[in-house]
Amino acid sequence: MSNAVPEFKPQAGALRERVILVTGAGDGIGKAVALALAEYGAQLILLGRTQSKLEQVYDQITAAGQPQPAICPLDLARAEWPEFMAVGEGIAQDFGRLDGLLHNAAILGDRSAIEHHSISGWEQTLRVNLSAPFMLTRACLPLLKQSPDASVVFTSSGVGHRGRAYWGAYAVSKAGLENLTETLADETEANTHIRVNSINPGPVRTAMRAQAFPAEDRDKLVSAEDISNAYLYLLGPASRDVSGQHFDIQ
Ligand code: NDP
Repeated sequence: MSNAVPEFKPQAGALRERVILVTGAGDGIGKAVALALAEYGAQLILLGRTQSKLEQVYDQITAAGQPQPAICPLDLARAEWPEFMAVGEGIAQDFGRLDGLLHNAAILGDRSAIEHHSISGWEQTLRVNLSAPFMLTRACLPLLKQSPDASVVFTSSGVGHRGRAYWGAYAVSKAGLENLTETLADETEANTHIRVNSINPGPVRTAMRAQAFPAEDRDKLVSAEDISNAYLYLLGPASRDVSGQHFDIQ
């Protein structure tokens, strides 16, 4: 069961005083959401695979006079548990808190029938899309628990609600994230101020969408900037007390 995101327009400074980590912050939806979060005052940790892309986002944020972000280059396909722990420890050291965690980075992986699905591709897709968000969440939970109002957001997809032919490990990873959302929301409901939700952006004009649907007319798709308010709703104080829910933006 999923919900529509409520119409939401953040007020100036709505994210001030919030420390938020965004994965895949160098491109696509993650970049647009990071820029929007910074515009509304959030202190960001930009995590991603390609350092130069993260530096571009950093430059844009600092040039606009917004809070200076931290850059955290990490390849989620290769990172092991100690590196995830180091991310959590680094945030504790540099900021002493964490109020938001957006799991946005993902790969599409093989688009093929299960019968022909590459074994290494299966493992890599599940690693980047599902195991890495689990490990990063686990490493950040001690910090999130200290926040008076923390939000964890996992990024799903239409094929995470229901599997579809030829979407292989990608669909399975997104379904796994929806279950992780429910499991963690249930565990954090009592005794913490952490809420956990998933968001499905729907079709958005990005590199991943072009890879999945190369023949599509891209001009008909919404841009990543068009949908960023929905992320601001879930990562900011407006969604306080909303937990264990799956949201569809479009
Ligand atoms: P993009 O491919 O445009 O961006 C993905 C981001 O994830 C990039 O910044 C990329 O880094 C990063 N990333 C990929 N692999 C790794 C890795 N191994 N380690 C660290 N970072 C990595 O995708 P979108 O912006 O389109 O998608 C964002 C999210 O939205 C994903 O979870 C996707 O599944 C979901 N989604 C998107 C839809 C769409 O229509 N666009 C529809 C439904 C869901 P780099 O740039 O360095 O490669």
